[in-house]
Amino acid sequence: MFSLLQEKLEDAFRKLRGTAKISESNIADAMKDIRMALLEADVDFTVTKDLIKAVTETAQGEDVLRTVNPGQMIVKIFHDELVKLLGGGATELDLSPPQRILMVGLNGAGKTTTSAKLASWLKKQGKRPLLIALDLYRPAAITQLQVLGQQLGVPVCVPPAGETDPVKATRAALKWLDEQGGGVAIFDTAGRQEVDDELLTQLKQVRDLVQPSETLLVADAATGQQAVAVASKFNETVTLSGLVMTKLDGDARGGALLSMRQVTGCPVKFIGVGEKVEQLEVFHPDRMAQRILGMGDIVTLVEKAAEEIDEKQAMSMMRRFEENKFDFTDFLNQLKFMKRLGPLEGILGMLPGMGALKNMPGVDDKRLKHTEAIILSMTPKERSKPEILNGSRRKRIANGSGRPVVEVNQLVQQFEMMKKLMGNKGMLSQLAGGMMG
Ligand code: GDP
Repeated sequence: MFSLLQEKLEDAFRKLRGTAKISESNIADAMKDIRMALLEADVDFTVTKDLIKAVTETAQGEDVLRTVNPGQMIVKIFHDELVKLLGGGATELDLSPPQRILMVGLNGAGKTTTSAKLASWLKKQGKRPLLIALDLYRPAAITQLQVLGQQLGVPVCVPPAGETDPVKATRAALKWLDEQGGGVAIFDTAGRQEVDDELLTQLKQVRDLVQPSETLLVADAATGQQAVAVASKFNETVTLSGLVMTKLDGDARGGALLSMRQVTGCPVKFIGVGEKVEQLEVFHPDRMAQRILGMGDIVTLVEKAAEEIDEKQAMSMMRRFEENKFDFTDFLNQLKFMKRLGPLEGILGMLPGMGALKNMPGVDDKRLKHTEAIILSMTPKERSKPEILNGSRRKRIANGSGRPVVEVNQLVQQFEMMKKLMGNKGMLSQLAGGMMG
């Protein structure tokens, strides 16, 4: 997510931090770099201009040059402006009666997937979601929604066989809804390849019948500025109450997300970060700004972990760290746990300073299997006392697991590093601090 934007911004800020003496002229240089970074990330031109202006003005107003650490101060000011740009606080989903959510968007944006994700999210919130398939234009979408609904245990309403009129299909759906005895209804409407009058006219008719409490546009972040233009058009005709930006996991630039709020005036309410049904996150501007600036996102990670974590196991793991007993069996469990949290790249991205681990053996998804194989080839004694792993033992393990010795060596090295990182003052305590604070 945003790897390109992050890299460029990091470069710009590193220059500032690296200079012994900060002057007005190198702040101006940094602003130029940041401006370039934003434009290269496909952020809207006016949005970029306004953002740079706001940061410069605040920096001047606060007399940054007199502060103890001007470089960091600029990062802080930029962060705060970024939060404002992204919409300030999180905007909650309106679930007031009639509790109807209309999902709109172009084909392929992720409407059907997001409808199911939203149903799954609502279920976790203790609500009763209902899914309504209204995408008559793409018949596969109906089957897709049925399958997803079945997996989630969520009732799905399908249009009458052969129905091609969205208005009639909507009436039938509302009748079905009446029989369901309440719940939050999610309407998966039809899209098109691009915005056209027919689509908008039909959507207006459907909207007038449904009278939704939320009209959410599902927009593909990877399409950049085009997504912003699409959102503006939908907003002009069907009036959106919010946005869901999908495919942020594959979006290195981030321009659409950064421009969306400012250009359309609509809040982003959710983001899609993967194809799986649980890969939907409530959008928090402050956390996103931190992620973009490489400050990590401990809060989201802790929330994700809280959904998966077995508290007893976590406590005993923590104790093992503190007593310095953490061994390869724990390491293996830890890796398995991280795997459950989602793609490792995403998780490491949320941890401040952990980005460097991304390229280490055993920490990426593909090599996790190899790591497991190596650990499983160790004797229980070796797993609990890694310090006895001498040359001949390492060779035996390499043979047993079918991996080269150098990989075994790397893993042992990585294990030691992880142990250090997770030691008393390390990551785990930070996480625990985050949970308590
Ligand atoms: P629709 O035509 O708008 O209903 O689009 P679909 O829901 O069928 O999604 C189109 C494709 O995008 C599918 O392959 C989805 O798995 C994929 N997709 C949807 N959301 C995300 C996301 O957040 N991340 C990724 N990587 N893929 C997504």
